[in-house]
Amino acid sequence: MAVKNKTESQVNYHTLQLYPWQLNDWHRLLRYQDSGKIPHALLINGKAGLAKFELTMLWAKSVLCDANAETINANTACNHCPSCELFNAGTHPDFKLLQTNEDVKTIKIDQVREVVEFLSLTRARGKARLVVINPAEAMTVSAANSLLKTLEEPPENTILLLVCSNPGFLPATIRSRCQNFAIKLTDMQPARQWLSETSGKSPDEVEFALKLAENAPLTGLGYLEADIAQIHDDLLTDWQMLASGKAKSVKIAEKWLKQPDNIPIKLVYSWIVDMIRHHSILAGNSGDRDIEQNALLYYKDNIILNELAERIPAKRLYGIYDKVLDIIRFGHTSLNMQLQLESLLIQWSLVAQSR
Ligand SMILES: [Zn+2]
Repeated sequence: MAVKNKTESQVNYHTLQLYPWQLNDWHRLLRYQDSGKIPHALLINGKAGLAKFELTMLWAKSVLCDANAETINANTACNHCPSCELFNAGTHPDFKLLQTNEDVKTIKIDQVREVVEFLSLTRARGKARLVVINPAEAMTVSAANSLLKTLEEPPENTILLLVCSNPGFLPATIRSRCQNFAIKLTDMQPARQWLSETSGKSPDEVEFALKLAENAPLTGLGYLEADIAQIHDDLLTDWQMLASGKAKSVKIAEKWLKQPDNIPIKLVYSWIVDMIRHHSILAGNSGDRDIEQNALLYYKDNIILNELAERIPAKRLYGIYDKVLDIIRFGHTSLNMQLQLESLLIQWSLVAQSR
């Protein structure tokens, strides 16, 4: 089974939920309400798979909630007042959501103009007008430019929430006019526990998926649901076949490219690290510190990897290691990735078979 990418773009207003790893960020947001000083524009950013969008939507609902003076210390908006009911129905007259969908991947100037006009209207229910743009980096250059004036001179009681996974893709002029709200996971325990409960997988598998997902819980869940352990074993068999000359690099590269998120590259990286580690242990060394820190290490002492490692001099493994790092750093475009992956697999196959 292939891994499905979890997108943050489909909205079901009824099932929005706060995840256990978001409590800190949620309270940081509530503090804006507490202080009565909500910035007119917030750039809510962090890597994909952290559920930034859901957090933003829930906060938007709580800002608009009629009862929120009483529920300010609670975890969510009241969900029962007329404002919350309108919000849940997706028809709140003071709220607008701009986003991409399956077919349209950009946010265009016409959509932004509509929002600018919406913000200039008087408020329908009285509290504030609120707009969520998700993901903000999907705005075309002209769309972003048409938002600038509103960011510079925002109408009273308007709040713009820009949700963004790659702030570097936003024009600096937009970034500098928003207050930055960075989302970072410092304590992984709540995410770990949630992943265990939601997926029903073993702690080792959860840890592996989370590391492979670079600590983004929703991405990790996608991996677990796709049975990442099975994918791992399947790809490792390919890797082993290449080493013994029983598979063609080009064919395997073609197959691996169907996996999203560069999963094969991440796996190869973890295997090389484990193989180099095995060499260090055989040589009686404690291991390369750099490598130890980056290791996934879930599959340490994997028999297949140990056997491969014993056949190949460490020096040659470092050659593969450098190549994988290059791909992780520079292999962004898909065309580039195909060539890079083929070349990596050819190099691996040569290195593993040379005597
Ligand atoms: Zn409410």
